[in-house]
Amino acid sequence: MLKITDIQTMVFESPVQEEKWYKLPIQRPYTKYPEADAIQRLYRTGGIFVVKVVCSDGAYGYGTTGTYNVCRDMVEHFFRPLLVGSNALEIERLWDVMFNASLPFGRRGAALMAISAIDTALWDIFGKETGLPVYQLLGGKVREGMRCYGTGPQIEQHKAMGYFGSKIPMPYGPEAGAWGMRENEARVRQVREFMGGDAEIMCDCWCGWDYPYTVRMAERLRPYGITWIEEPLMPDDLEGYRRLRPVLNRMGILLTTGEHEHTRWGARELIDKGCVDILQADVEYCGGVSELKKIMNYASAHHVHVIPHTPSVPGMHVIINSTASPCIERITLGATPLFLTDYEEKDGYVYLSDSPGFGIELNPDLTRREP
Ligand SMILES: [Mg+2]
Repeated sequence: MLKITDIQTMVFESPVQEEKWYKLPIQRPYTKYPEADAIQRLYRTGGIFVVKVVCSDGAYGYGTTGTYNVCRDMVEHFFRPLLVGSNALEIERLWDVMFNASLPFGRRGAALMAISAIDTALWDIFGKETGLPVYQLLGGKVREGMRCYGTGPQIEQHKAMGYFGSKIPMPYGPEAGAWGMRENEARVRQVREFMGGDAEIMCDCWCGWDYPYTVRMAERLRPYGITWIEEPLMPDDLEGYRRLRPVLNRMGILLTTGEHEHTRWGARELIDKGCVDILQADVEYCGGVSELKKIMNYASAHHVHVIPHTPSVPGMHVIINSTASPCIERITLGATPLFLTDYEEKDGYVYLSDSPGFGIELNPDLTRREP
């Protein structure tokens, strides 16, 4: 038996260049409150959380989740004592143990983020033990490379990298009125002119719009041939998404959401209620590699694509394994990578290597925060 002997936790300074992240012009649901700056600061200084699961034979695997070091307490005081001594290769069972045990304070949010990091680390170990990349363990690649689109206002970089399109943040929401609508439209026009007629353009709203505003904004953006509007409503407004989708579809625009949703059950609700054309589950949030694979399978049977939110390398291993996932997101915010990897990026595509596990090692250039 391959025993888990320890689960180590580490927090690193956020590797995204703070200045760029902080000044990213995007309307968020809290932007309207005087506390907005304090909230941004908390996000900015939250740090990147990494777990390292260590086994009896010395093997180890990495998993990570977002800027929420609250996950550290959950791992140290709850999941670590629960898992130490267990068989590291019983990944499916351990996911279920963690989910069931954390039910009273879990089901969504930070508990699922912590579970995501541990589950992903276990897949890394499985790969290293067998000498195979994780995508191979999942059933192999369905295509050679992954087609990329760029996210962020750095559209010059997107074009230079050969990305097939750009997703740009929408800087204004309902509070900015008619002036803000005109500014949003101006951004999209500028991207269309720069990227050319064949580029796909996506608009990210980070839950900062509402139903009527989205309908009006979509009508204004229609002439620019945008591909999708992302997360215009709050994640729990399923009824809003359900009503909005056919309205946008009639304009030739797709509706996407799901980066703030968790588990197969959350994804099932969004899919069954007809809320999404493209689901954007995040491997670091949704429950890890095990859960993202289940979500992909369910989506593939319901005519829904899954284009994961900011895929880290573990996310890429699931994407390359699924016919439901046609492309990947690349963030162009000038981040120092958390992990050193050996995948290749060429002519707008990413190609994974055949290194065991995820083929990742911690980047020594990152600043570790002491506990
Ligand atoms: Mg988004």
